[in-house]
Amino acid sequence: MIDFFSLVDWFLANKRSFPWRGTPTPYAVWVSEVMLQQTRAEVVVPYFCKWMKAFPTLSTLAEAKEEEVVKCWEGLGYYSRVRNLHKGAKEVMARYGGKIPSSEKELLSIKGIGPYTAGAILSFAFQKRAPCVDGNVLRVLARLLSIEEQIDQAATQKKMRTYLQEALPQKQAHVVSEALIELGALVCKKVPECSQCPLRTCCQAFLEGKERLLPKKRAGTKAIALYRTVALLEHEGAYLIRKVPKGEVMAGLYEFPYVEMEEPLSCDQRAALLKNRFQVEEFHPFSIESHSFTKYKVTLFPYRGVLKSSLTLLGYEKISLDKLASYPFSSGHKRILHALLQVALP
Ligand code: SF4
Repeated sequence: MIDFFSLVDWFLANKRSFPWRGTPTPYAVWVSEVMLQQTRAEVVVPYFCKWMKAFPTLSTLAEAKEEEVVKCWEGLGYYSRVRNLHKGAKEVMARYGGKIPSSEKELLSIKGIGPYTAGAILSFAFQKRAPCVDGNVLRVLARLLSIEEQIDQAATQKKMRTYLQEALPQKQAHVVSEALIELGALVCKKVPECSQCPLRTCCQAFLEGKERLLPKKRAGTKAIALYRTVALLEHEGAYLIRKVPKGEVMAGLYEFPYVEMEEPLSCDQRAALLKNRFQVEEFHPFSIESHSFTKYKVTLFPYRGVLKSSLTLLGYEKISLDKLASYPFSSGHKRILHALLQVALP
């Protein structure tokens, strides 16, 4: 039996203050929970504040252009999340008159809302008794209940949701749900701090000395390495960029032209590759950037070259240097843009 009383006492004394906790409207909970997937809460705070200023209500989000919405998300990564949130907001306007529904079945029918987000909205915004099983809770429950099954298996996750459905108390279930998440974030972390934990007397893994052996996961797949030489092609103060088309990774974001390499080449070889491809006499290297997305780890080798005459590349547009920052870029290209602005802006 999990000692929910001790857990709630600990939570009320230790919980962190976040802007989405102050006014947990269904919209604010939805936005924050989508942002919090794959991203630490401290990192999310400024994004959340900026977002709520730009799109304070569901209707303002639904009416916004996709490019504005993606721009506001720039830097958080995993852009399918924001596109689905945008589509979901439009659905709620069309199907529910702008009011986010309070039943699990209806929430799950909305684009981008899965079992965890539905549980969080029901729990934190509507204060209903609903299981919220995110990565933190999976780890905490695997230890508390000494679950040996791999936690990244759908069947294990379903088992944990079913467990909570039955075990959550009738009163203050939403506080218990939030407390479990907070315990995972602050105490029962990857390396657990059991000496600080309010649940160590009822934690099976701790009692069995297995707290560092759980949870179990499937062996991870190795990231695929990609190497790209990026060309910052300038002509009369403007640079070529393209919006990544639908169907490609990073769709809807902007990128500079690049050449894919099968393996890392030397600095001279990379410059020669670009000269050959873009007919520019001189290319000057920038600092190297690397970023990861989905199953890829990409290393970008940016070079700046000045074109003697205007160049047209299919799918690319010319944008003046002072306007580049207003476009939403993929994260690696955004860092290259910042480096470019530092050296090129007067
Ligand atoms: Fe996690 Fe340790 Fe607490 Fe168990 S006692 S819930 S392993 S921090």
